[in-house]
Amino acid sequence: MVNLARRFLPRDILVDVICETRKCLADAIQLLTPCTPGNHWLRIVDTGRFSAVFNDKKKGDGVRIFLDVGKLKPFPAVDAWYLKRVPKSEQNLDAILDGLNETGEALFSCYAVKVTPEILQVRPKVPPVICPVCGEAYPPYHGDLCRGCQGLKEKYYRRNSEAIS
Ligand SMILES: [Zn+2]
Repeated sequence: MVNLARRFLPRDILVDVICETRKCLADAIQLLTPCTPGNHWLRIVDTGRFSAVFNDKKKGDGVRIFLDVGKLKPFPAVDAWYLKRVPKSEQNLDAILDGLNETGEALFSCYAVKVTPEILQVRPKVPPVICPVCGEAYPPYHGDLCRGCQGLKEKYYRRNSEAIS
């Protein structure tokens, strides 16, 4: 996918990526490009699809590349593995790896996209503010309270004790 993106995009631009899955693809993009969530060049928008948008960081012109299930049929081992048609215990790893090496770029389709201006917009760097509930620092554009105290943390964890240290 990264090779395809390089072929479609001009060489003299900085590229952002929107990865549409939290699974292995996001790791591969971080290994093969300078884009990471930490530097904000890689954004993960979990649509659950094996796909990524590679775009000009400034203009937004880009390409969406996705695994095209219609192209899996000639590669039965890859098809069975990717669509989980066979239990893992019955899969043949060598056949899957051989199939993946054989497919190369053949599994992917792509089309041009234009990333929306809201997504391209770079937030100005502003000093954090202190949340009046938890006392931790957070970005002021999140609101009057940090997102944790607005209820987001309840979705992920509950506090079991007072501070340990
Ligand atoms: Zn808070």
